[in-house]
Amino acid sequence: MASGSKPSRRKGSPTAVAPADREMVLVGWQKLSMRVPADWNIGALGGDVKEGYLRLDDESMPRLEAKWNTPQGYTAVEGVVTRYLDELKKKAEKSKREIKLKRDTRLLSRRRKRKASLECFSWTEAQQAHGAAWYCDRCGRVVIAQVLGEAGEKLAPLAADVLGSLQDHPSDHWALWAAYDLECYVPEDFELTNQKLMAGLMELSFTRELEKVAVFRWGMANVLLRDTSLLEWAKRDVAPRYRRMCRCEAEEIEVRGHSGVLAHGTKQILPYRIARFVTHCRNRSYPDTIRCYIWHCEESNKIYAVETQTDAGDPDVGAEICDRLRCH
Ligand SMILES: [Zn+2]
Ligand SMILES: [Zn+2]
Repeated sequence: MASGSKPSRRKGSPTAVAPADREMVLVGWQKLSMRVPADWNIGALGGDVKEGYLRLDDESMPRLEAKWNTPQGYTAVEGVVTRYLDELKKKAEKSKREIKLKRDTRLLSRRRKRKASLECFSWTEAQQAHGAAWYCDRCGRVVIAQVLGEAGEKLAPLAADVLGSLQDHPSDHWALWAAYDLECYVPEDFELTNQKLMAGLMELSFTRELEKVAVFRWGMANVLLRDTSLLEWAKRDVAPRYRRMCRCEAEEIEVRGHSGVLAHGTKQILPYRIARFVTHCRNRSYPDTIRCYIWHCEESNKIYAVETQTDAGDPDVGAEICDRLRCH
């Protein structure tokens, strides 16, 4: 998890449980996506696309936990649920708490979820949870997820809504990455390599073989741009990133209806040209072109940037990411 103060998100009503009453937002991480109440934010993240963990918290408690892994061979989902509930039982016995476990609950239907292996469960002690586990034969992942609440809360409708919306792989080859106030779509074959999740700067970096994509979001644009134009700021704060790779030009353009800047350059020096030649001989893309779309969204008081290092012969994936990025 990143250090520094966490970015905030649009506020939702803190305790209402009926899904219809609540503002819901998208969360997407490691090709898992779901719709959750707006006041649930990332509390913990771990692992990668093959095996990982995600927890969302509201102001007072954890609200959603999801774990996924990619088994080598066949894994019975029943066994995954059994192991999880046995663990809970052991913990409760150890601390002499009473726990009620239920299996095969009808929280979600296999047909609606389109997962033959789906098993739903619930448990209640001081808190309660409604959960589900399933295997997806397209992405090869086993997912176990639960929505948590206080013991007396009417939790099942909300849990059904959230877990019903949970997708374990993107439906159109664009993976949603949505955490806090950053919501973007990146081609699903790019893997996350780095992340910074802070109020001042959010940054998600991805790679696909040699190619790179990064999405940035700076907060408090009015402060960053107090004494300078976006073009000058981009020249001073963004363009130097590419100094060692190429000569970078920056020009003013419009991005998503906002005034923006495109910084771009081509890796021309000899070692890059040799590497490009060798890579192209192997019929692979070489990241010879650097593009960075930067724009100032006044409505959200943020600066966004989408940076790509891709092959000049390939479509401009940065422009496509910009088209899909919701800035306000
Ligand atoms: Zn899947
Ligand atoms: Zn905007």
